[in-house]
Amino acid sequence: MRPVSSWGRLDAPLHEVIELTDRDRVADALAQHPSGIAHGAGRSYGDQALNPGGVLWRTTGLDRFIAFDSAAGRLVCEAGVVLRDIQRLAMPRGWSLPVLPGTQLATVGGAIANDVHGKNHHTTGTFGEHVRRLRLQRTDGESIDCGPDLRPDWFAATVGGLGLTGVIVEAELQLCPSRGLWLETETVPFDDLAAFFKLSSESEAAWEHVVAWIDCTSMDSKRGRDVRGLLLRARPTDATGPAWHERRRRLPLTPPLSLVNTLSLRPFNALYSSLGRRRTGVRVVPGEPFLFPLDSLLEWNRLYGPRGFYQYQSVVPPTARLDATREMLEAIAASGEGSFLAVLKTFGERPPVGLMSFPQPGVTLALDFRNTPALPALFARLDAIVRAAGGRLYPAKDARMPRELFEATYPNLAAFRPFRDPGISSAMSRRLLGS
Ligand SMILES: Cc1cc2nc3c(=O)[nH]c(=O)nc-3n(C[C@H](O)[C@H](O)[C@H](O)COP(=O)(O)OP(=O)(O)OC[C@H]3O[C@@H](n4cnc5c(N)ncnc54)[C@H](O)[C@@H]3O)c2cc1C
Repeated sequence: MRPVSSWGRLDAPLHEVIELTDRDRVADALAQHPSGIAHGAGRSYGDQALNPGGVLWRTTGLDRFIAFDSAAGRLVCEAGVVLRDIQRLAMPRGWSLPVLPGTQLATVGGAIANDVHGKNHHTTGTFGEHVRRLRLQRTDGESIDCGPDLRPDWFAATVGGLGLTGVIVEAELQLCPSRGLWLETETVPFDDLAAFFKLSSESEAAWEHVVAWIDCTSMDSKRGRDVRGLLLRARPTDATGPAWHERRRRLPLTPPLSLVNTLSLRPFNALYSSLGRRRTGVRVVPGEPFLFPLDSLLEWNRLYGPRGFYQYQSVVPPTARLDATREMLEAIAASGEGSFLAVLKTFGERPPVGLMSFPQPGVTLALDFRNTPALPALFARLDAIVRAAGGRLYPAKDARMPRELFEATYPNLAAFRPFRDPGISSAMSRRLLGS
């Protein structure tokens, strides 16, 4: 038994970790070590890839490329392949993954199981939209090949299916043409939420990537202060900038207390805001640090100290976006908690691929919170706002949403249940689905 944490590092329960390394023997491994959950690169924040006291099937050893058609941009690979390795293979050949989350260090299986989104959801949708086929290994020995045109019901259940329909062993992905490593970017400051929404919709026609950083400490409705932030937009370019080399650092130790706290939050946000406001004009920058700003500091999650942290990511529909986002930000500012990197982004009008996919048209807000006793009250308030607005929370980031909120906000849950593999369960599935 070994301790395993998720990205939020809230705890490190013991698990029997079974390394899957041979795609032809996954069925045997599941039969020999039943009742587990697949665990990819462990980049989900909460308890969806954990099974305390039980079995984890770790997939990072399923890391082989199987076939690559460089004329058509079709890649077949094992499910434990890390997205960055696909980019390293594909980009020099003129291709790219169409959808990349804010970290490249997730696996293909994890990206499918959460149907992840990137900063370009308005143009490219979610990861699942670009999966042509996948192979699912069930714990009863059955192997199911499915895709949008092949057993589509299994495909819809597995994309965004939280690892609960089986272990994804391999997948075929359609890549998109890439113009190279560089992006043309612009940073545009805004001083209230309405300005963010206006800027965001104006930007979406011409910019592939649109996302905003907000200063969660800036909102104070009693003093008439709205939220300020920086809208970051970027698009592919043929231009190149000065030579760029990836630099990776690792946080050397876990500090005894969270470095993100009421003392550090305001000065950091003020500094980030003023630096961003000076960075005006269009610039050419390397794509990786723009798209994955946190990947260069390995184990940055230790910044939050030994008690770990929560992320709260919601989406609310367009009709409620202004009022609900304002209410949430007011509640967060009043609590004095919040994160250095609070993110606001609109989702486009795209039909979801998975029965349980998180994205829906509207706006998504994501913030990290150090783990303090004040959080349950704040989260209960935020939950109420999200629910009243017709929104929902993202399971990839969740470690605490009440079951009742999940049931009320994921309307396809009943349709999803029959596809569950009875030999698979996680801490999250027991918390949110009852088994
Ligand atoms: C810094 C950072 C930024 C992020 N930004 C974004 C973002 O912009 N957009 C976004 O959508 N997400 C984002 N995420 C979340 C992340 O993309 C997802 O949690 C993703 O699922 C992590 O993949 P993983 O390989 O680490 O999976 P894990 O965390 O190990 O597992 C996640 C889920 O996938 C399942 N799973 C994993 N492999 C398989 C498999 N082979 N078969 C079946 N099920 C499997 C697990 O059972 C679990 O339910 C971010 C995470 C971090 C740490």
